[in-house]
Amino acid sequence: MRLILLGPPGSGKGTQAGLLRDKFSIPQISTGDLLRSAVSEKTALGMKAKEFMDQGHLVPDALVVDMIRERLQGEDCKEGYVLDGFPRTLIQAEKLDEMLASMGEKIDEVVELEVDQDDILIRLTGRRTCRSCNAMFHVTLKPPKVEGVCDCCGGELYQRDDDNEKTVLNRLVEYEKKTAPVKDYYRGQGSLKTAGGSGSMDEIFERICTLVS
Ligand code: AMP
Repeated sequence: MRLILLGPPGSGKGTQAGLLRDKFSIPQISTGDLLRSAVSEKTALGMKAKEFMDQGHLVPDALVVDMIRERLQGEDCKEGYVLDGFPRTLIQAEKLDEMLASMGEKIDEVVELEVDQDDILIRLTGRRTCRSCNAMFHVTLKPPKVEGVCDCCGGELYQRDDDNEKTVLNRLVEYEKKTAPVKDYYRGQGSLKTAGGSGSMDEIFERICTLVS
C-alpha cells in the first residue's frame, strides 16, 4: 500500500497519516519531520533547509528529492508507506514517479484533504507538537491533560517556529502556488481522491478509509 496524503498545512495530514500507518502497518514518511530532525541535528541538509522553513518557503526540490530517495530505500518501505507532505511540487511528483518506476513500483492512492483557510489559521497558530514523538495537540481544540506535556509519551510540547501567523500565511501561499499543480498532476492520472478535512479525527479517518480500501 503506497499512499500519498495531500492537503494544505494544518489540514490534518500528519494526524491522518499516523492513523493510516497504524491501520496498514506501514511507515509514515513526513518530509517535514525528516527536515526538522536534520535541522535539530545540524546536518548539512538541515543547515541549508532551516532558512526556507523558518520563512514558510519550500525547501529546494533537489534537497528534498534526495532525502526521500534515500528514505524510500529503507527496509521498512518494502510493503509500502504513507507519504505526508511529499510531493509538494510538480517536479517532486514527477521525480517520485521516476524513482518508483525504476523500482517497478507505483503509487496506489492519492488522497487530498480539503479544509477551509480560516480553520487552518486557527488550527496552526494554536498547535503544540511533542518534541519526542511528534504527537500534536491544540491549546483549545485538543489540549493535553497536563499543560506543556505530551499525553502519549510525556515529552515536552512546543510551538513550531513556523506555526506563527506570518509564516503560516506564507506557507498557504506556497501551497496554492506550488502544490495545487500536484493535485492536477494526479487528477490527470485519474488517481486523485478528495476527502473533507473538517469534523472529528475519527470522522475524517473514516472518510479516508472508504476512499483507500
Ligand atoms: P510540514 O511539517 O509538512 O508542514 O513542513 C514544514 C516545512 O518543511 C515546510 O513549510 C517546508 O519548508 C518544508 N517541507 C516539508 N516538506 C517539503 C517538501 N516536500 N518540499 C519542500 N519543502 C518541504
